[in-house]
Amino acid sequence: MSLIPQNLQAIATTIVAAAQESGRPAESVQLLAVSKTFGADAVLEAVAAGQRAFGENYLQEGVDKIKAVQDAGAPKLEWHFIGPIQSNKTRPIAEHFDWVHTVEREKIAQRLSEQRPAGLAPLQICLQVNISGEASKSGVTPQELSALAHKVAALPNLTLRGLMAIPEPVEDYAQQRAAFAALRALYQQLRAEGLALDTLSMGMSADLRAAIVEGATIVRVGSAIFGSRNYHKA
Ligand SMILES: *Cc1c(COP(=O)(O)O)cnc(C)c1O
Repeated sequence: MSLIPQNLQAIATTIVAAAQESGRPAESVQLLAVSKTFGADAVLEAVAAGQRAFGENYLQEGVDKIKAVQDAGAPKLEWHFIGPIQSNKTRPIAEHFDWVHTVEREKIAQRLSEQRPAGLAPLQICLQVNISGEASKSGVTPQELSALAHKVAALPNLTLRGLMAIPEPVEDYAQQRAAFAALRALYQQLRAEGLALDTLSMGMSADLRAAIVEGATIVRVGSAIFGSRNYHKA
């Protein structure tokens, strides 16, 4: 028997508790189910349990899965692209996804805006920020963030919603919170500069609670829902 429904239930319980700890309603935290390396069947099981938002890292795998899930008659779902973006691969992202969490360069944002099909809602964007310094190569630096944010916010077919980060994995709860607090501080600074942001995409299976306590509005959870990933099979 699949564990997906009970895993979703357990995460919902964690979200309620952590949101309460941060003085917020549980509805202020959206669960993004990260289905990378798992098949359309796993997505459909989560859909049957009520899950509607899914995250994918690998473009071809994600596009194939979106089509397979649609063909299987699923209700309208929200698809988030959360993987690294190559500049020659922006078009399928702009055509098939609702959100992109991993924008870190102006050129990528421009292409996504130009390639977003007319008739679709604007693509919802988070800027990925490198809050772990040397330890990570992904994300815009905190120093370059403000300039990038104002440029992206001005692009016609995108809506800049907020910030995303993948901190260096640490087990210590206080250290987890410190990294998320740093992202929240940058978010608050951009809001103070007049950008209408409402999204902090932070927290994964291992650091969910710390992220929510520090203000996450989207948590991206994979293995705690679908089980451990086997990259060789994928
Ligand atoms: C894989 C992935 C996740 C989910 O990670 P888990 O540890 O399985 O919860 C979240 N965000 C991003 C960007 C990922 O690549």
